Amino acid sequence: MSCGCSGAPPIKLSDRLRCMNCDLDVEIPLPEATVARAVAGDPASLRAVRAFRKCYVEREAARECPECGDSFESYRYGVSPQRVCERCGIVVPGEGGPDISW
Ligand SMILES: [Zn+2]
Ligand SMILES: [Zn+2]
Repeated sequence: MSCGCSGAPPIKLSDRLRCMNCDLDVEIPLPEATVARAVAGDPASLRAVRAFRKCYVEREAARECPECGDSFESYRYGVSPQRVCERCGIVVPGEGGPDISW
């Protein structure tokens, strides 16, 4: 199964490229090796994917962004609750909102 969303929803880089909205696989016209390196965290490959479409790198659940220390915002369009740091392009699983309890 692959993503059939209309428009161009952001991509989530987890073990592979997934749609942020429907969580299904997303295919982009880049070499497989580039995609694999981006998933592994290679910055140049990640830039190549980001040049193609907005994307978020999946990290483990955290209270604040591990890169900039800001709190996450809810991402409202996914099939499961997700939170994002727009500045750093990071996504973590979990509920959003101000009444979050840890
Ligand atoms: Zn989709
Ligand atoms: Zn951040």
